[in-house]
Amino acid sequence: MNIQDIHQTQKDFFRTHTTKDIDFRIQQLQKLKQLLKNNETILFEAIYKDFGKSAHETYITELAHVYHEINTFLKKLRRWAKPKRVTTNLVNFPARSYIVYEPLGNTLIIGAWNYPYNLTLCPVVDAIAAGNTVILKPSEIPSNVSDILTKLINNNFDKGFLHVIEGGIPETTELLDLPFDKIFFTGSTFVGKIVYQAAAKNLTPVTLELGGKSPAFVSKSANIQMTAKRLVWAKFLNAGQTCIAPDYILVEKSVETALLEAIKQEIEAHYPTDGSLSGNYCQIINQKNFDRVRGYIQEEKVYFGNVQNTEKRILSPTVMHQVTFDDPVMKDEIFGPVLPVISYEDLNSAIDQVLELSKPLSCYVYSKQQSEIQDIIKKISFGGGAINDSVMHISNPKLPFGGVGYSGIGKYHGKTGFYNFSNTKGILHKSFGLELSLKYTPYTNWKKKITKWLIE
Ligand code: NAD
Repeated sequence: MNIQDIHQTQKDFFRTHTTKDIDFRIQQLQKLKQLLKNNETILFEAIYKDFGKSAHETYITELAHVYHEINTFLKKLRRWAKPKRVTTNLVNFPARSYIVYEPLGNTLIIGAWNYPYNLTLCPVVDAIAAGNTVILKPSEIPSNVSDILTKLINNNFDKGFLHVIEGGIPETTELLDLPFDKIFFTGSTFVGKIVYQAAAKNLTPVTLELGGKSPAFVSKSANIQMTAKRLVWAKFLNAGQTCIAPDYILVEKSVETALLEAIKQEIEAHYPTDGSLSGNYCQIINQKNFDRVRGYIQEEKVYFGNVQNTEKRILSPTVMHQVTFDDPVMKDEIFGPVLPVISYEDLNSAIDQVLELSKPLSCYVYSKQQSEIQDIIKKISFGGGAINDSVMHISNPKLPFGGVGYSGIGKYHGKTGFYNFSNTKGILHKSFGLELSLKYTPYTNWKKKITKWLIE
């Protein structure tokens, strides 16, 4: 079947109204969970072949999130999907008012390569829970993952309801030409703009989950050992190929040396520093990204690391110091295991420098000072973040997840994801009883007076 036929099949299926049934949605979510659970070993093998990511890391950063998202909906969907009563204003008296959550219809979900299960299946879960059909286009870059997702989903789900279409730019371009009711895209800001333009032709609503440079502030009041521990884990997880990884550190000058030393010790304790492929540290996805990331490194600013295994595309955890906002490493999202550290003496100037860059996807603050924390949260616009931790905000489905400005449009996960894939339909339900004559002609003075009294 070609792409257009699959799209038409999903349109026809949606018109059967099957997905409006909450029991149907719950069954599909249970089926998806069971399918993943039954096939965990092959899912782990596929991602290991693509970029050497271990089964444990794949579980905690990918499948656990998908299971958690499904479990949230299995518990809450019936309640969230119920029409919500709201009060009725005096002008409409007597009547009832309520909000109906209806599915948007046929959705397209386009995934990125870096967390290829999490970033495709979590939006799929939200879309299914809200009662939509889904065409999923995973990234073509981790080809083993794309292949296994296609086999598992297409062999187990009705293609009118959930179907995977594999491919790169040509297939995505063809998909983007079709009139979907929603497009959910995860990837680069550059491609995000292409998606947004294509969606505009059909007035299709979009969610764009994009990237950017996420700062981590470290104040002198922070617990330096704990800060280093959490930062190192968050930065070198997935070898730095994480959209919400702390891209760079802004540290208060008086604790810079202590932080750098603690970071070095943490790396030595947890990661291979000789460029070897170990179960604890994965590869850079491809040669293009390997060359791009090592291109940011200025030898004279390397504090620690920079061991390169070209054959296996491994770059050991690398820390740079004495970095300035003018250095090449500060020009783009790094998306790899290079951690620049910039020191500051005045927090407001540091905040101002961050404000010169695009709005980040995340921001992290390590501090015990409430005033500093509040200052940063209030002054910098960012998608979401954490205080005294990094990355972990993504693991709470009660927190909306997504960017702002250049780092994205729209949020998802849990209830926010349900609303994201729903149309909130407002209904006023009147009886045939009492009818005020105020809105009808003739527009007399007394009607005007009472109307004004009611409104004002
Ligand atoms: P990408 O933009 O290159 O690719 C994303 C998807 O778009 C893929 O499925 C790809 O096939 C498709 N695509 C690529 N070029 C296209 C084109 N010209 N026209 C149409 N479709 C095209 O992104 P990537 O390299 O897979 O991921 C890295 C980026 O994604 C980083 O910037 C990262 O920060 C961001 N990201 C964001 C999130 C988030 O949740 N906000 C999560 C992961 C990654």
